[in-house]
Formats: sequence, structure tokens, C-alpha cells
Amino acid sequence: MSNVLYISSEAYPLIKTGGLGDVAGSLPAALSKESQNVRLLLPAYPEVLKKIKKSKIRRKTSYYNLPVNIIETKLPGRNVTVWLVDCPFAFNRPGGPYADEHGDEWHDNALRFAIFCQVAVDLSLNKFKLHWKPDVVHCNDWQSGLVPALLSLYPQRPATIFTIHNLAYQGVFDQQTFSDLKLPEELWHMNGLEFYGQLSFIKGGIVYADKITTVSPNYAREILEPEQGFSLDGLLKSRGNDFSGILNGIDNKFWNPGTDNYLEKKYSVHSLNKKLLNKTALQKELSLPIGKSIPMIGMISRLVEQKGLDIILQSLSKLLAMPVQYVLLGMGETHYEKLFTAWAKKHPDRLKVIINYDESLAHRIEAASDIYIMPSIFEPCGLNQLYSLRYGTLPIVTHVGGLADTVIDASKKNIDNGTANGFVFKELTAESLLSTIKRAMAVYQKPKIWRQLQINAMSSDFSWKTSAEHYVMLYQQALKEL
Ligand code: ADP
Repeated sequence: MSNVLYISSEAYPLIKTGGLGDVAGSLPAALSKESQNVRLLLPAYPEVLKKIKKSKIRRKTSYYNLPVNIIETKLPGRNVTVWLVDCPFAFNRPGGPYADEHGDEWHDNALRFAIFCQVAVDLSLNKFKLHWKPDVVHCNDWQSGLVPALLSLYPQRPATIFTIHNLAYQGVFDQQTFSDLKLPEELWHMNGLEFYGQLSFIKGGIVYADKITTVSPNYAREILEPEQGFSLDGLLKSRGNDFSGILNGIDNKFWNPGTDNYLEKKYSVHSLNKKLLNKTALQKELSLPIGKSIPMIGMISRLVEQKGLDIILQSLSKLLAMPVQYVLLGMGETHYEKLFTAWAKKHPDRLKVIINYDESLAHRIEAASDIYIMPSIFEPCGLNQLYSLRYGTLPIVTHVGGLADTVIDASKKNIDNGTANGFVFKELTAESLLSTIKRAMAVYQKPKIWRQLQINAMSSDFSWKTSAEHYVMLYQQALKEL
């Protein structure tokens, strides 16, 4: 059994903006089931402080002359201890974890997450004497990237793991920031935190962690190439066998149509007819024409270029000429919000666009839809295609990243051999997306085959067990090599 400090800038249900929140909210509990003693470290945003029940201040300290409390609490609904970095100046402000209400990144993100990392390092070295010392420190994304770098300076240190959830977000700041943060000079070089004359938080993880992972085996291959490597492919390649891909799992406690309290009607693979009642309930809720046989296409997404929104927009006039309903829940870049909203106004019977962040509606859309579209340009793992499979909602996806690892195309061969669970296309164009939707519609007209695909989808196992076992093996290997 190892003590594992799991460091994340978000964790469901306390705070979530995307997939990292889902993972950090569920993997620690899965690791506990594999006999790991896991503690989660998280910033104390206002939303987090509002949601926690019992808590106590374990230490009072300061960084950069700013007061910081270490608060101990539990992850709601889980037996996982959480330590919160409560630095009011850095984290207790309205808006999101990384950006303000208008979507503009906080100007002091480097300082905010440097404080977070400094606390993590001191916890890892047991400087606060909290009677718990990690053997393994598991960092996630750039917000915790300085931790492996700073820990590397101590001969007696825990093993470090760094997981990349999306290489596109790197935490790059100017050189002055490096000086302002008073980071150790010996970390400033090409093979350290410097990235073309700038300070890169993510390099702290990629260069200095003992092991690096990303969230699917296919994305692990893709980011070793210049096309998807965001100028870090060479560095990742240089880490050789220390870098690998471990597929994300899903949390069966929150994403299970048989127990999901957000749904109008719970259902399972044995009662798929009840799924249709979720469709009619959502049609009613969203004032769409009601009909069980109208194919419903769902999508829940951050509205950013990565998610393939441009090819969807280019397809819309043809898509909305088909007898379908398309429901989109999302928030993000203003121009996408405006464009989709304008289309919805013109096609109220075919398209509903909800610009919001709404966890319960996300569940209802997954349950109500027949098809889920996710034509991402790149996708490290993707969770919504996994939730869709779990809910018998067949995903239409591009052949990238974790989507290619999890969705098996309904080709004749795959239908015949019983493996097909969705629709995959390779060319990232509006024409390919439309022809794949048409292909899905044609199968939808054959209820027996459709039902079989739903059964295949719902029977796939994407629980955390296997992946948690992989992480434990990696922890053991890192400890052995320390
Ligand atoms: P990413 O991490 O790139 O955003 P993922 O598919 O890995 O993409 O995870 C996205 C997670 O965030 C999913 O759980 C999805 O349901 C959720 N999500 C995204 N946008 C919204 C929204 N507007 N309302 C509710 N949940 C959302």
C-alpha cells in the first residue's frame, strides 16, 4: 500500500469545468479500492468552500506574503480525504478556476498556481507535520507542473507522476514571471522550465516527473508527432518508456442510467424501451415537437475549436433539413455561443441550444438522445462518448485520440462480429460528418440492428478498475526506480 497525494485544480462534485474534474473526482476512490491511501489536494475556490460540510484548519502558513490555510475535509459522497489550499487572495474570487466571468484568463494565474504547487511540495516533504507523508505524488496538468520540478531538488523525495489531460493547455508565462515567483535559478534552462525564452509550467511535469502519462494510448502516440505535439513532441519522445497512455474510466456511481436520479425514467440494457421516455420528457422540457421516433442528436461540450464546432456549423443547414432534433448544451467562446444561438432561433423545432453549465441537464441529454456527436479535431480521451456508450446513445466521432480507442465503427464487418458500438469517420470535413450522420440514420431505421449496437455499447466496460490497476503498477515501478 502506498500513500498517494493526488493533485488537481478541479474535482467533481466540488468543482468541475471539464474532464479533469470528472477524473480527479473518481480516480482517487478507485485507487483506494486498489489499497492505495489517497489524499486529494485542491484549491479552495468559493464554490468548493460552499459545498464542503465538515472541515477543519490543519495549518496556517503563508507564501509570497499571502496567508494560506490548509483545510481538511472529505470529497462529498466519497471516503477520500481532501486538503484544500485556502489562499483567499488567489482563489476566493467570483468567476471560474482559470478565468473570470467573461472567460478572460486570470492575469495572475502563474502566481495562483505557483502558490498551489509550493503548498503541494511542502506537504509532500511533510513540512507541515500532518502525520501523513506521500510515497507518490500524482500531478495533473500544468497547474501542478511545478511540483515535480521543485521536488527534483530534494534527494529524499516521493516518486512523481505527471498526467497530461490536454497538451494544448501548457501554462506558459514570460521570463519575468519566473523571477517574480522566485523559482530556483537551476530550473531555468532549455532542459528545464524554459520554453523558447518563456516559463512553462507543463515542462516542469514533462521534464522532471519520474513517470508521465496521458489519458489514452492513442493520444499518447499522437502527441509524439509534430502535428499534435504542440512543440513538446520531441521532449516527450526523449522520455522514452517513462511516458505512456492509460485510458480514463467513468464513474459508475454518477453515470449509470439504472441509478441516475436526474433522469425522468431510469433504465438498463434490459429495459431499453424506457430510454424513450427520457426523450419525450426532454422534448417537453425544451419545447420541442414530441415524438418517440424522431431521431435526437445530443451534444454537451465546452464551445471551443477543438470540439469540431466549425464542421458542425458548416453542416447545419443540411443537418437541420433532415427529420432530426439536435440538442446542444455548452458554454465557451462567445462567437460559437452567438452562432449556434442564431441558428436555433431560425430552427426552433429542430435545434435547441442551451448556453449554460448544467450537470443535471447533461445527464438528461445523454439519456434522451439516440445519437451523440463528438467530431473533435483532437481529443485526449473524451468522456462524453463513454457516457453515451453507457447510456445506449450511439456516438458519432472522429478517429482521433481516445475516441479512436473507445468507439468501434458500425461497418458491416463490425456489426456482423458483434463489436460495433458507434460511428467513426476519418476526414474532418462537413461532408464526412454529414455522410456519417446519414449512415447512422439508415441504421436507425433498422431497429433490430440499432438495438444490437446499443447493447454492445452498454455492455462495454469503461469502469475505473483496469485503469486504476495500471496506475498502481506505474506507482510501484516509479518507487522501485527512485
Ligand atoms: P473536456 O475535458 O475537453 O472538456 P471531456 O469530454 O473529457 O472534455 O469532459 C467534459 C466533461 O464536462 C463531461 O463530463 C461533460 O459532460 C462536461 N461538460 C462540458 N460542458 C458542459 C456543460 N455545459 N454543462 C454540463 N456539463 C458539461
